[in-house]
Amino acid sequence: MSAGTGGPDSGPENGPENSPSTATGWLVIAGLGPGDAALITPEVQAALDQATDVVGYFPYVARVAERPGLTLHGSDNRVEVDRALAALRLCAGGRRVVVVSSGDPGVFAMAAAVFEALETGPADWAGMDIRVLPGITAMLAAAARAGAPLGHDFCAINLSDNLKPWALIEKRLRLAVEGDFAMAFYNPRSRSRPEGFGRALEILRAAAGDDRPVIFARAVSRADENLRVVPLSQATAEMADMQTVVIVGASNTRLIDRPDGLPFVYTPRKVEA
Ligand code: SAH
Repeated sequence: MSAGTGGPDSGPENGPENSPSTATGWLVIAGLGPGDAALITPEVQAALDQATDVVGYFPYVARVAERPGLTLHGSDNRVEVDRALAALRLCAGGRRVVVVSSGDPGVFAMAAAVFEALETGPADWAGMDIRVLPGITAMLAAAARAGAPLGHDFCAINLSDNLKPWALIEKRLRLAVEGDFAMAFYNPRSRSRPEGFGRALEILRAAAGDDRPVIFARAVSRADENLRVVPLSQATAEMADMQTVVIVGASNTRLIDRPDGLPFVYTPRKVEA
């Protein structure tokens, strides 16, 4: 596997290890960022420009411009490993494949699914040209909008219990408060899981008290972006949906009020002994 530093002029096909005479298929697992096209890295854009196939969940594939010679393969959300296997097969057949995720592909997204599929496939697949290209993950885009809430130690927790037991989520919430991390919550609430986020808020209030600032950052960098900052005592489950990333401050996270609009939220870098 090549390291592929990439950049606007050095897409996956152009590395010295991949001269045109030996060019074969490649597979790039790329993050499209939180929504705004300006937050797609040049490296990811170069891979998309050279791809023959783009594979991913429908709404993410829809963010890639159609062009002659490019086949878009959109699929449903719950078939990640099947989708990854299909992408690996295309690569093995000599295609130039980009598997797309929103945000960063390694954060609750397709990169791990591709490696899971790779482990189950033929052993020689591991020798294929497979690379992961980072993207701007939702919590970092949201944190930047709010100020610097993740300026000290923090953790990220996926609140969906589709792929893990709810009891493990509760345990991690309690331990994250005990460790005094700022916390970023992905997949806070969906129609099929309406209850969990309310329970998560109760656990957080019991462990951390009422005053922690909570940032509800919805559709960050998209046309319908919306940010709210409330104390934990006023946070309700209805404030979040599947397009929201929620950030809860650590014990020393502070607000700087502004004359109009949202306060800045930041966590100082230094904690006294
Ligand atoms: N790989 C993605 C995360 C996929 S999980 C990433 O790195 O960002 C999907 C969850 O990400 C959503 O439920 C939401 O919590 C969060 N998310 C993705 N895009 C977002 C955006 N533009 N604004 C707010 N939250 C977002």
